Amino acid sequence: HEKIVFVITPTYKRHTQKVDLLTLCHSLSLSRTQVKWIVVEDSNNPTPLVSNLLSLCPVSSVHLSVKTPRKKTLVAKLFWKIMHGHRGLEQRNIALQWLRDNYSAKDCRGGVIYFADDDNRYDHRIFDVISKTVKAAVWPVGFAGHILYEGPVCHNNTITKWKSWAVRVGTNRKIPIDMAGFAVNLCQLFEKPEVYFDNAWSRGQLETEFLYQFVTNKEELECRGSDKEVLVWHVRTAKPSLYSGYQLEHFLET
Ligand code: UDP
Ligand code: MN
Repeated sequence: HEKIVFVITPTYKRHTQKVDLLTLCHSLSLSRTQVKWIVVEDSNNPTPLVSNLLSLCPVSSVHLSVKTPRKKTLVAKLFWKIMHGHRGLEQRNIALQWLRDNYSAKDCRGGVIYFADDDNRYDHRIFDVISKTVKAAVWPVGFAGHILYEGPVCHNNTITKWKSWAVRVGTNRKIPIDMAGFAVNLCQLFEKPEVYFDNAWSRGQLETEFLYQFVTNKEELECRGSDKEVLVWHVRTAKPSLYSGYQLEHFLET
């Protein structure tokens, strides 16, 4: 079975959207493992900015969109932000739906799914690591969880310990891993057809809750990569400092 990594990227409109997606396109272009990029816009319809970018990107891609429902009142908005505050959740879910609609238990064997936010930075070798995922695999992510790198420490592909900021472990984050620090085999989607991201999950628990749908204890996770060499970083692109009269509407669209 030829390996293929399905890279799921939620994205939304802002000044740095284009350059973030371009950077990710370049990282994916260098992958020696075959990748299929599933880009899901947080919008009612796919936009020309993203479709133009994808048509210029040499990576095979799928372009979807779904708008995150916005909370109606200020109180609801604040409450949700404090308790949950998930970003990109509906977008990841329709990508999972797309995979279930387009593949089956019969042709899932070579596939692995990975959630790659648009503002992280990726060493292209991470996609080779991801492709080896048998069921569910984890590795450290640079600058995640308020430390230099967060995630498992591996010895012979098994987990020896977890690096995580103690306070956050105390908040019952059972699997201290960033969204960019794990992958799941595509066949798992067909073995567990009910699996999605749930908006009701608490703040900071998306990764733990998602992974616990596939494994019953975290020692089952395949430990990949090395704490000596991080291959993916949770960085955020700084907002450019712009003259205040220069609004997003005036930005060159495509
Ligand atoms: N995102 C989105 N809609 C939003 C906010 C974020 O689709 O309203 C996407 C964003 O483009 C990214 C992912 O969701 O791919 C995670 O968001 P972000 O990087 O802002 O979160 P953080 O870095 O704080 O985890
Ligand atoms: Mn981010």
